Amino acid sequence: MSDKKSDIPRAGMSAAERRARSQLAQLLSQRGVMRGTLLVRTRRCGKSNCRCARGEGHESLFLVISENGRTRQLFVPKDWESRVRRWVEDYHRARDLLEEVSRIYWDKVHKRQS
Ligand SMILES: [Zn+2]
Repeated sequence: MSDKKSDIPRAGMSAAERRARSQLAQLLSQRGVMRGTLLVRTRRCGKSNCRCARGEGHESLFLVISENGRTRQLFVPKDWESRVRRWVEDYHRARDLLEEVSRIYWDKVHKRQS
C-alpha cells in the first residue's frame, strides 16, 4: 500500500471493509496470483515399448486461461505444481475479497453513504 491519501479515510471504513482490504493486501504482498484453471491431460510419448503405448498415457498438468476470447494453455512442470496450485487458489481468494470490497461500495452508492 502506498502512503498517499486515499479518497476515503481508513477511519471511516467498516470493520468488514478493513478486514477484506487487509486480507487482500496481505495476500498480494506475500505470494503470487495466477488466473486460470488447472487441467490434467494425458498424452502418449511415442515410444513403442513404454507403458503408455497400451492403456493410460502420461499425465501432464496444464494451466488453461481464456484471454480476449482465445484459450491459451501453459504446461506446468512437476516441480512447479504446488507453487502454481497455490497461486491459482490465491487468485480466487483475492478475487473474492475484491468482490467483497466492491459490494460494500455498491451499497454506499445505493444508500448514498459517503
Ligand atoms: Zn510413454
